[in-house]
Amino acid sequence: MIVYFNDKYIPHDEVKISPFDRAFLFSDGVYEALRTYNCKLFRLDDHLKRLKYSLKELGINFNDFNLIENIFTHLADINNIKTEYSVYIQISRGVSYPRTHNYENSLTPNVFAFAKLIKDNNKEKNIGVKVILEKDLRWLRCDIKSTSLLPSVMASQKAIQNNAFEAILFRDDIITEGSHTNFFAVKNNTVFTAPLSNYILNGITRKVVLELCKENKIDFCEEHINVNELKNFDEFFITGTTTEVTPIIKIDDWIVSDGKPGIITLKIQELFFNTVKQV
Ligand code: PMP
Repeated sequence: MIVYFNDKYIPHDEVKISPFDRAFLFSDGVYEALRTYNCKLFRLDDHLKRLKYSLKELGINFNDFNLIENIFTHLADINNIKTEYSVYIQISRGVSYPRTHNYENSLTPNVFAFAKLIKDNNKEKNIGVKVILEKDLRWLRCDIKSTSLLPSVMASQKAIQNNAFEAILFRDDIITEGSHTNFFAVKNNTVFTAPLSNYILNGITRKVVLELCKENKIDFCEEHINVNELKNFDEFFITGTTTEVTPIIKIDDWIVSDGKPGIITLKIQELFFNTVKQV
């Protein structure tokens, strides 16, 4: 695979990076992941806006946002990718030696990006998935898309070990989001999801879903969902760039609504697929 690393397109196993890169030592870096529909990058502007926000919050000096679209499309071309693909970009604060927690403002970021073919989880999207509930062990700035993902990695791994697709995280009995998705619940035809805050990532798919609810007069409410109240809801689903809109049919050992995707969930899924088809 040919990847992008600091202005060069090179085979992935030829990338050389210092162990003093602060992302390696401190997870001092941010990332974005997006995908194409009809071979066009979906919601690129929203992803760039979120990337800018993450960089600003951490004070990482990177301003070449106008280069990013070209990097992504060039990666697809150079790797001869002709179908839908996803792209990942990571920007670390840079290398500082010797290792100290604090940093100079003058560091040069290391920029790494790659593209890969999308493996569509159509089965999961059609029949729904099992999720598990896990304590949210993450820090208090989940609004920053930082590469510091260990609690998410642990939760995701536990989900897989329990034959589940995703771990849904809760903090003080309040559901925040999934390890790599946003969480939605439906009650009496109203869609609920956690409000934006430092406890969740401002998901782009979440944003698209709420826009679709608004346009199609589906009631929605950005309100906290308590773990103890889950049984009062009729349907659940998760969203994300590659997860798209995926119904939940089991939470731990509880089979949700007869083990079938809910009606509102399917409606939103259909609206979502119609939207992305038209880009
Ligand atoms: N929450 C977390 C913690 C995530 O890692 C992701 C994936 N980026 C999401 C939500 C979904 O965000 P998006 O729809 O932008 O992919």
